[in-house]
Parts: sequence; structure tokens; C-alpha cells
Amino acid sequence: MKKIALEEHFVTPDFLKLTQTADFPFMDPKCTSNFQECLLDFDNQRIAAMDRAGIEIAVLSLTDPGAQGQLDKGTAIKLTQQTNDFLAHRISRNPKRFRGFATLPLQDPIAATKELERCIRDYKFLGALINGQTGGLYLDDSRYLPFWEKVQELNVPIYLHPGSPATMSDSYNGHPELSGALWGWTAETATHTLRLIFSGLFDRCPGLTLILGHMGETLPFLLWRLDSRWAILKQPRKLKKSPSQYIKDHVYVTTSGMCSNGPLLCALQELGENRIMFATDYPYESIDIATKFIEQAPLSEEVRQHICYRNAQRLFPLAAEAHAAIAK
Ligand code: MN
Repeated sequence: MKKIALEEHFVTPDFLKLTQTADFPFMDPKCTSNFQECLLDFDNQRIAAMDRAGIEIAVLSLTDPGAQGQLDKGTAIKLTQQTNDFLAHRISRNPKRFRGFATLPLQDPIAATKELERCIRDYKFLGALINGQTGGLYLDDSRYLPFWEKVQELNVPIYLHPGSPATMSDSYNGHPELSGALWGWTAETATHTLRLIFSGLFDRCPGLTLILGHMGETLPFLLWRLDSRWAILKQPRKLKKSPSQYIKDHVYVTTSGMCSNGPLLCALQELGENRIMFATDYPYESIDIATKFIEQAPLSEEVRQHICYRNAQRLFPLAAEAHAAIAK
């Protein structure tokens, strides 16, 4: 079945020179030996893997932590502009197969807002992908409110991708295996999402849409409990809706790095067939495993179509246009 894939990573040669992006501290070097090559490649093995999987459009994003790992604002602003220019150029070389998410200098909320606007206006990117907190600042901070107002005005989704916290909690002491993709990033990203919800952001900006990878970073599983414990809080903040309703109304989840029927059926039950989209987390996860999983999952063909491409077509009109061009 044809697919639009939403969490597909790349890196630029300039970025590699300046950062440690190609280090993969949590993973066995035997498993990471080809990551750098895959991240740099836009033509060969990436297209071959997309063809094998039936992925007609990959929405590309800079790999974690991106410029968010930079301490210096000026460096972050320069790096993000260069990276977005680079990505736009790569997409222009193969516009039928690629779309992009912007990378943003979140160290400076005003610069991040301007860069998002530039990327949507000039490059027709589909939104932005953000790797968690930046320098200890989470996106519910009031300094980001003008950013969110611009996101709402531009009517693009934000993909909230995992990243590490600025400082690790004591609960991880002595257990480095817990701090990355195995668990810590999940807890961090779910917490970040809940911060946005409980800050009242979605009451202030009701047009916002978030995308979460990894089948929703455990949140679809927790909806009932979030409401049940919210209802008995001593001093709950004023919110217009129940916590679960914000997730149902504002969050899409993708299948990136979660190739298991249980979590898929849970997300389907809790969020509905219109809120789940296909993604692979290339090159960190296998496109082939992700593809086999979604093609063999116990779904009707109609629901499978929604997940593989129809929901993405609805959410991203630009991807739908490109898709229609391919179909001709
Ligand atoms: Mn990823």
C-alpha cells in the first residue's frame, strides 16, 4: 500500500562538521555504523528503501538534537537557516518524493518564529519538528506564546520529537540504559506534551496541532487515568476541557519506532482512525520492519489507508497535491 512517512531524518555535511550529531551514545556501534551515511544520503539507499516500502513521500527532518543542542543563539540561528536552505534545495531536486519539516533556533523564540514563517512561506515546508526542550526551556514557557500564535496563524502542525532533558533526574542514577530511546525520551516527551496541555496553551490557541511519534509516547494508553486523577486534584488549573479531550482534539500520533499491534489498537481505540499516521524513524529504525508491521496489522483496508496516507493527505494539503501529481 502506498504511504506518506512523517519521521524520516537527515543531516547536512556542514552540520556534521560542527556538532556531535553523528555520535549515537546510547547505541551499540555495530548497529549505528551506517547511520551517518544514511542520514547524508537523499538519492541512493534512501530512495531504494522508500521504493521497497511503497513510501511515495517522505517528510524529512533534521536529526536530534539539531541546532537545539547549541548553547550560542547566533550559532543556532545560522545553523537552522543553513539547514533549512539545504533541505529546500534537496526537496527541489526530487519534489515528488520529499517534503520537509523546518528546524528552528528555539534558543531565541522570536528568531524561531521568524524562521518558521520563512520556511512555510518560501519553502512550503509542512510544519516544524522540535526535539523537546531547549536549554532547559519547555514550549509552555510564556516566551513561546508569540511562536505558538504564529504556528496557529500559519496553520501548520508541530512534530514534538523526543530529546533529552537539560539535566537528568536522580531517578536515572546508575541506569544509563534508561535515559535515551529505551525509556527516558518517552517520559520526557509525554511530560512535555502534558505541560502544554496543563499550561492552557490549547485554550489560548485552539487551532494548534501537535504530532507525536512512537504511537503517542504512551499517552493514548493513559487518557482515562489523566481525567480520573485530574478530577480529584485539590487545586486544578482552569481548563476548558478534560485532559484527554485536548489529546483527542490536538494530537496526531505516528507509528515511528512502535511496530506492535497492542499499542496500535490502543491508539486506534482511544484516538480514532483519523489520528494515526505512518512513520518509520529512518535510519534509526528499519523501514522494512515498519512497513511489514503496518501492512500486516489487523486493520480493515480502509483504516490501513487512513494510517498509511489519507490522514497525512488531509493534514497536509501540500503532500496531497504532490500525491495527486504522482497518481497521474
Ligand atoms: Mn526520530
